[in-house]
Amino acid sequence: MEIGVLAVQGDFAEHIAILRRIGADTREVRLPEQLEALDGLIIPGGESTTLSRLMSIYNLREPVAEMVAEGRPVWGTCAGMIMLANEITEQDPVPLGLMDISVQRNAFGRQVDSFEQPLRISPLDPEPYNCIFIRAPVVIRVGSKVDVLASLDDGRPVAVRQDNLLATSFHPELTRDTRVHQYFVGLAKNNSSATSMR
Ligand code: GLN
Repeated sequence: MEIGVLAVQGDFAEHIAILRRIGADTREVRLPEQLEALDGLIIPGGESTTLSRLMSIYNLREPVAEMVAEGRPVWGTCAGMIMLANEITEQDPVPLGLMDISVQRNAFGRQVDSFEQPLRISPLDPEPYNCIFIRAPVVIRVGSKVDVLASLDDGRPVAVRQDNLLATSFHPELTRDTRVHQYFVGLAKNNSSATSMR
């Protein structure tokens, strides 16, 4: 079981630390060949316009899309969610277009408007999860194949899943609560055991 973390920009080190803490092997991914044989990939938070440019320069767009088409789980947090979307409300960045959601960037304002909010995340146990929002995006449309896992009190979705794709507006890598990482590693384990039985 090895989970890659896209390490071209953003808070990849925090994801790696939490994955290690829960006993998953990890790999920093900067080049397309580093995606080979991974059981899952995390696209971290950061700045999606930069992430978008660097993913093009390093030729990572197609291989990540192939990974998703093969059924391997990919999880985007914050800027990573923006990258997974089919559609965003601005021209820049150019998302990967892998998940049937529309996303609005910086939906809560500037850095100073960052906040924490305990929310129930449906596949986890009922204990609320402390969600950290930092210049976070929000989902403004979900396609028919998308499950909403968590929403704000006003109903706007902030955690969504479509088959092997997971996206969260908030930053589980900045908390001590490992439950969302454990959930993602569980998706990767299920997929790799299903694939090895084929
Ligand atoms: N506001 C950033 C963007 O649009 C995302 C912020 C984050 O990842 N914490 O890319």
